[in-house]
Amino acid sequence: MRVRKKPWAAQELLDNTLVINDAPEKKGKWKEYFGNDHPIYVEIGCGKGGFLRKNAQAYPDVNFIGIERQETVVAMAARRADEELPNLAFVRDNASNLSDLFEVGEFQRLYLNFSDPWPKKRTYKRRLTYRGFLQEYRRIMGEDAEIRGLFEFSLNEFCADDWKLSNISLDLHNSDYEGNIMTEYEEKFSSRGMPIYRLEARNRK
Ligand code: SAH
Repeated sequence: MRVRKKPWAAQELLDNTLVINDAPEKKGKWKEYFGNDHPIYVEIGCGKGGFLRKNAQAYPDVNFIGIERQETVVAMAARRADEELPNLAFVRDNASNLSDLFEVGEFQRLYLNFSDPWPKKRTYKRRLTYRGFLQEYRRIMGEDAEIRGLFEFSLNEFCADDWKLSNISLDLHNSDYEGNIMTEYEEKFSSRGMPIYRLEARNRK
């Protein structure tokens, strides 16, 4: 996602209580931070945060953490989520630092929605479903690892890394999947008539 740098972004990150600026210090302590034992679901590359904001409203018994590497984008996500949402937090960081943020088994589900495609051949290792990333997710999420999102490249990567796939759809909006919550990219692409793909991947054999 390309956004022009906003001069207010850095200050917003400091001022907005939904933004966690000392996230590595929360490693192993996210339950304490949220003050409950509810499951924790993470989205990497959360963009402007609409998906998490709507999830946090719909599922108050789940805690949601959005990780996004662009300062301005995190600031926009936090500003838009102006409701009091005690089960939502945003972290400005890169997916490659995931193990600095979470202890093994600390979150139960990972969403990857419309991750950057990195279309050039030599950049495929930056894709968030590149097998190097998958191995890291598996290591951190443990036995119950569950990933939702993505596509073709991802299908191959998931298979190469031996994940169990289910609920694969090549046209989500015309499938019988219920309770879908749309992301900003999903709204943009589907309004242009493009079908939305989706899959779920589990570590459990
Ligand atoms: N999930 C949102 C946004 C998709 S755009 C939606 O569906 O609407 C992809 C987002 O992922 C961009 O905002 C980009 O900055 C972020 N991103 C890409 N690679 C990342 C990485 N390695 N770590 C954290 N965020 C990343």
